Amino acid sequence: MPNAVIGTPGKTTIFNTIWVNERVKDELPAELIEYLILHEHGHASRSVAVRLKFLVLTVGLAVTTVALLFLTMIVGTTAVFNPMYSLVQGAIVVIIGLVFATFAATGYRQVRWNEELRAERNALRGLGPAEYRRRHDQFERLRNRGIIEQLKRRLFYPTVDEVVGRENPQ
Ligand SMILES: [Zn+2]
Repeated sequence: MPNAVIGTPGKTTIFNTIWVNERVKDELPAELIEYLILHEHGHASRSVAVRLKFLVLTVGLAVTTVALLFLTMIVGTTAVFNPMYSLVQGAIVVIIGLVFATFAATGYRQVRWNEELRAERNALRGLGPAEYRRRHDQFERLRNRGIIEQLKRRLFYPTVDEVVGRENPQ
């Protein structure tokens, strides 16, 4: 796949087909391409039911978060400018709205994080802990991420220790 279409090095679609960015052939050594493919295979090994659940949960929670924020904004603005309600009442409504929106956003993050954990664990199983750690670190060093990509990485991906730790509980 051309870089313009996919953006990331690899991607597993909801149909469990794996796309690989044609750029990686030039940019990554073979062992890191193998790591990438193992990661994507971890996504692609999902059953239809799990895939569907992931889709419904991510879309559902994302829509819920945005809807709650929007609703909070409207209700909050109405309450502040309507003399019928006190500012305290308005503030309470806004806080409740924000709490629920935070719940939905946290759920969204958790679902995506779990999915990336599944993919990384597949790479860990394929490579063994020491080799997995080495290739993961090397992959991260070679990747040049913008600020948004770095933020996404932080939010939605487990760290090496989290991946290895879960696989080999002490
Ligand atoms: Zn992934």
